[in-house]
Amino acid sequence: MALRLSCEDYTVGWVCVLSVELAAAEELLDEEHETPAYDARDTNIYTCGRVGDHNVVIACLPEGQMGANSAAAVAVQMKSTFTSTRFGLMVGIGGGVPSEEADVRLGDVVVSKPHKTHGGVVQYDSGKATPTGFERVGSLNSPPTILLGAVAKVRAKHMRGRGKLLEYLSKLASLPEFGREAAGPDILFEAEYSHEGGTTCRACSQDRSVAREARRQEVVVHYGTIASGNQAMKTAAERDRLSAELGGVLCFEMEAAGLMNSFPCLVIRGICDYADSHENKKWQMYAAGTAAAYTKEVLSVIPSDKVEAEQKIVDVLSGLQETAAKHQLIAEDHRNIAEKSLRFQQTVREQELSDRQKECLQLFRLTKSTQDATYEWYKDRVEDRIEGTCEWFLRHAHFQEWLERVSGPLLVSADPGCGKSVLAKYLVNHVLPESATVCYFFFKDQDQNTVRQALCALLHQLFSQKPDLLKHAMRQYEQDGKGLVDSTKSLWTVLENAVQDSQAGPVIIVLDALDECAESEFEDLMRNIEGQSCNSQSSRGALRYLMTSRPYEQIVGRFQSLLKAFPCIHIPGEEKSETISHEVNHVIKYRVEQRAGDETLSNDTAAGLLDALLRIEHRTYLWVHLVFDYLESEGFKKTRRGIESATRLLPTTVNQAYEKILSKSKDRPMVRKALAIILAANRALTLSELNVAIEIEETTQSWQELDLESEEDFKSRLRSWCGLFVSVYHGKVYFLHQTAREFLLADVSSSTTVPQGVRWQHSVTMQQAHRTLAERCVRYLSFFDPEPGFAVHARGGENSQHHSMDAMFEYSAKFWPMHFREARLSTSKDANLLHLGLRVSDPRSTCFSQWSQLYEGMHIFDQISTIMPHLTVVSWFGHDEVVKMLLDKGADVNAQSGYYGNALHAASAGGHEQVVKMLLDKGADVNAQGGYSGNALQAASAGGHEQVIEMLLDAGAYQPQEERCRDLSRSLLT
Ligand SMILES: [Zn+2]
Repeated sequence: MALRLSCEDYTVGWVCVLSVELAAAEELLDEEHETPAYDARDTNIYTCGRVGDHNVVIACLPEGQMGANSAAAVAVQMKSTFTSTRFGLMVGIGGGVPSEEADVRLGDVVVSKPHKTHGGVVQYDSGKATPTGFERVGSLNSPPTILLGAVAKVRAKHMRGRGKLLEYLSKLASLPEFGREAAGPDILFEAEYSHEGGTTCRACSQDRSVAREARRQEVVVHYGTIASGNQAMKTAAERDRLSAELGGVLCFEMEAAGLMNSFPCLVIRGICDYADSHENKKWQMYAAGTAAAYTKEVLSVIPSDKVEAEQKIVDVLSGLQETAAKHQLIAEDHRNIAEKSLRFQQTVREQELSDRQKECLQLFRLTKSTQDATYEWYKDRVEDRIEGTCEWFLRHAHFQEWLERVSGPLLVSADPGCGKSVLAKYLVNHVLPESATVCYFFFKDQDQNTVRQALCALLHQLFSQKPDLLKHAMRQYEQDGKGLVDSTKSLWTVLENAVQDSQAGPVIIVLDALDECAESEFEDLMRNIEGQSCNSQSSRGALRYLMTSRPYEQIVGRFQSLLKAFPCIHIPGEEKSETISHEVNHVIKYRVEQRAGDETLSNDTAAGLLDALLRIEHRTYLWVHLVFDYLESEGFKKTRRGIESATRLLPTTVNQAYEKILSKSKDRPMVRKALAIILAANRALTLSELNVAIEIEETTQSWQELDLESEEDFKSRLRSWCGLFVSVYHGKVYFLHQTAREFLLADVSSSTTVPQGVRWQHSVTMQQAHRTLAERCVRYLSFFDPEPGFAVHARGGENSQHHSMDAMFEYSAKFWPMHFREARLSTSKDANLLHLGLRVSDPRSTCFSQWSQLYEGMHIFDQISTIMPHLTVVSWFGHDEVVKMLLDKGADVNAQSGYYGNALHAASAGGHEQVVKMLLDKGADVNAQGGYSGNALQAASAGGHEQVIEMLLDAGAYQPQEERCRDLSRSLLT
């Protein structure tokens, strides 16, 4: 039976990322123990055992999770469960960097060793702002001395030919897949030569491989710098460039940065590829084996009593934290790391919350399922800054001044496409001081554009980082229950109280793209920001707002009143267009270099391309993005002259670029249909929804007729229609940028007679867009009630391999009435569609019974034993023409039943003037009593529909029981 020790008996922590690495580690244990019982809140799965004299605990990152964050989470839990661990070992595979200096080959081992200014691991994609610019490299703590001593000893043994590495490696011999033979040949391709495609290098030309001499040793151990970053290295050019920049790197990997400052450890990586485009998995098992064998060798030279003499990790770190608190230096320097370990301390602390508190915290997430996009996702989808950009902002005196302040707002305005969101993301991730609690919200038109969503996101972040403040929400939560997140007033109160709590410390709120906040909500947002900014000067709260927006007068002007208190409140980026355009040059250079690295673009042609691009004026980031896409898809002759002729045709503005993208498609009607649907959609549509919507045509009669392709295929077809103009994130379809929507949309004032087929700019009116989508929704729902002669088919059925057939149901059910109304259909032109609308809205139809269950306001149909009359339904929706059709057919204008007493009552509640007028003309009883609001006048008053109130009063609306109501309604009008 396996030995069972207690958690305190384990002194060495071993962390790996992939299951092959775990397998190699387990296989090399001298003895495997039964894992002791540990706290159920620790989500790691441990393997315990003995290596030589040491009791070792091994944990692996959860399947499919990689990167520094996951590694940090595993390590933090490990050290709090196995409190006696003295040091850690991060063991696994990595991408090697072959160079003149180091003949790194597949299967070799790279060990992190401090060198000059580095501690053995450099984190290359973090950095900090300094007065002289941005330093991108964060150097992380050195491995513990005891491990460096052991490494030196092993190295000496290897020099003397007494190494044990191969002996340990042979223990894996019983598993043939871990053998060298299984890995196949070791081919290094020229750095300039890109992978030809496919999962193996079968298609890659052997002629482009680098000739290397055969080597005597099977496995060589290299000692030096390991580079850790959040993205896998994908090209040899990028690999070599970064390595040179970092002073020579032996290996690239993705996890070590998560550990180095919170979990003192040695990083050991077996080389499984060359960190280039010829990525392959064949060497992973062998490389995992050599790394594990080397690790065992290191452990074998450390005497166990030496280990026990070391400080426990938990003690070392609490000492560190004290020092950090005194000097606030470490945290400043390694904001990224600090942020991560902080986040995981938070996760641990979150587990100490009561169930009720967790419920409350979870409520602020506002997501119904794991599929829903989170506020984090809206930030993360923004591109990362390219080096050399955003610096105009960091250097701006107003920003510096704001950083020094204790409280107050700052508004950054800049033209579309100038990288506001990139800046906001960069500030949140890398620049804003660690000493403050940073909360953010990225407004996104249509999707996340309400103050309620913003407040919930901000509070979720605030409470996750400062759980003690949750008490301010709990008070309200006990009172309102789940309704707490529905009242922006309550949410504002919670936020205000929380930031004024003495335990809150400084709080920074970043709000990106104020111009994408719903117009109706903006005033509320500004009023509260204003209130808080003026309050917090006098009270204890240290709250700073940083906001970005387009330079719209209605937004920028709203800050005038704050200007007195905060003279430096505004950074008008639109006046800095020259500086920004200068920074855009960095991006152009970067992209050209990238192409020069990827392809056979000679230095001369690259220089020519760069030249030509830099000559074009008024450049924005968005323009660069579009232009490179354009060049890539057009292709051009890779000569000086070829470049000249290609760049002569380049779009010089963003709108020109959009025009070119869309005009490339051969299937103009399809593109038009797709764009209209995306434009009208009430929320971002999923690929499957759009796929179904587009497939529905005027002649489609049933689900069986839909000829749906797979989501992947549809996605590529969409791409071929619309190019970059639309993009797909998280399975949902969006316009590339807010400017794309504006480009497409016709002027509201212009009529529906936009010339079609000439150009795309301003070619779709909102009304047309609604009509397109309304038709798809209504037709889809009508499949439930086929025309006579058509058999009813269940959805799915023989075509059920496409679950996506159901996709459009939920959307149609919820939003068809709105699209149908906004389409403002006319009897002369839209007879067919009106006829369909009439069928779908009939409460006696099958399809009504289906869709009405999902309709947001379904409770109004849900009156037991009474069916709402058809006329009342369409009056409530404001479907003028359908109301007219029913009236012409002789519908009873005064039929009483249902939630709204009658049709007039329903139309008044919805505020539909045209319908009210028609009903009154047809002799509707203006004073009929009954239904939810009592009568039509009360229904109109409750909704604040002034025009309707006036019409009803003119028609003699009167309240016999309550005289006052009439006066009240009158007074509303004045
Ligand atoms: Zn290849």
